[in-house]
Amino acid sequence: MSIEKHLYSNGTVTIVWQPKLCAHSGNCVRGLPTVFQSREKPWIKPEGAETEQIIEQVKKCPSGALTFFLNSENPDK
Ligand code: SF4
Repeated sequence: MSIEKHLYSNGTVTIVWQPKLCAHSGNCVRGLPTVFQSREKPWIKPEGAETEQIIEQVKKCPSGALTFFLNSENPDK
């Protein structure tokens, strides 16, 4: 069974969102509203903040729906 994943990259970091894991707690939307915009499509705007800010916010996702990887360390390669 494959797990649905959506990828959003600013060229340096890639945000990975797994919708089935998302608890819709809104932590990300409140914490970094320039990137996480639940009313928009796509709802994640990776160009909306610095890479460091994105990483810090992704780490605070309580459900594990958000993860990230650095493009220079792409795990798919
Ligand atoms: S912080 Fe994580 S669980 Fe909460 S809304 Fe964002 S992606 Fe979903």
